Amino acid sequence: MNSFRHLFGPVPSRRFGRSLGVDLLPLKTCTLDCPFCEVGLTTQRTLERKEYVSTGAILAELTEWSARNEPADFITLAGSGEPTLHSRFGEILDFVAGQRRVRSALLTNSTLFFLPEVRQAAARADVVKATLSAWDQDSFAAVSRPHPDLRFDRILDGLQRFRDEYSGAIWMEVFIVPGVNSEPDQVQRIAALAQTIRPDRIQLNTTVRPPAERHVQSISPEALTKLAALFTPAGEVIARFSGGIRREAGVHPDSIVAMLQRRPCTAGDVGHAFSLADSESERILNDLIRAGRVRAELREGERYYRGG
Ligand code: SF4
Repeated sequence: MNSFRHLFGPVPSRRFGRSLGVDLLPLKTCTLDCPFCEVGLTTQRTLERKEYVSTGAILAELTEWSARNEPADFITLAGSGEPTLHSRFGEILDFVAGQRRVRSALLTNSTLFFLPEVRQAAARADVVKATLSAWDQDSFAAVSRPHPDLRFDRILDGLQRFRDEYSGAIWMEVFIVPGVNSEPDQVQRIAALAQTIRPDRIQLNTTVRPPAERHVQSISPEALTKLAALFTPAGEVIARFSGGIRREAGVHPDSIVAMLQRRPCTAGDVGHAFSLADSESERILNDLIRAGRVRAELREGERYYRGG
């Protein structure tokens, strides 16, 4: 079994079921440097849009993956940073649409939606999961440590324009960080802005996997549920993934490492993704640790594995 360089998974996603990830960027390239980022600290914080990874190489991998007829619920543009920084991400969404097999999703932090060309390309996705976790420039800086040239009001305006232009589904993610944007009056201000974008779903999230900065805390599910009620439509609390994933093919350790390089997972997550018993996924993960390809870290009593 060949391993892919730009595709990973299908990974168990709390929102997208079986999600085949497409990584358009070198680790870790983003417009923001969120302290809660599960990918790690941003090493290249930039607004420069370019073809960071060869579009042809990605399309070749997607063609090969499609020929295998493996099940997936979504193909998601995500991975090692902000996918809209890739200047040709719209062509990849077009390709997925042309295959007519699996729906596409774009996971974006919304920061480049002030650009018409980004909105046009994003509109080719079936679902756009866009983030809005602040209510003004200061809160935006505190939550996400943005590139200095980013302006919150322009981003909000871009999202509102996108809603007017786009007929697909917008799932708005609000990421709650205790002590930063978790007070009810703060969340109410986010909710008022979210309403102006008329999202199809609103999803509240908090740190579950090990974050870039270890000090970042998560908010309790009870508190998150109370905050979700402040939104219209009411927000959903993104629960920990618990669905079953079936994968019939044999497991190649490279596939597991590829998944763990983009997202820390528990042995149970790995088991779900690759249809392995817990004991088997732990055995493979321990082998990978001994080989220096994976490392383990504890987060709130859970053992997570991260690709090295
Ligand atoms: S959480 Fe998303 S937007 Fe924030 S730094 Fe990580 S990849 Fe970028």
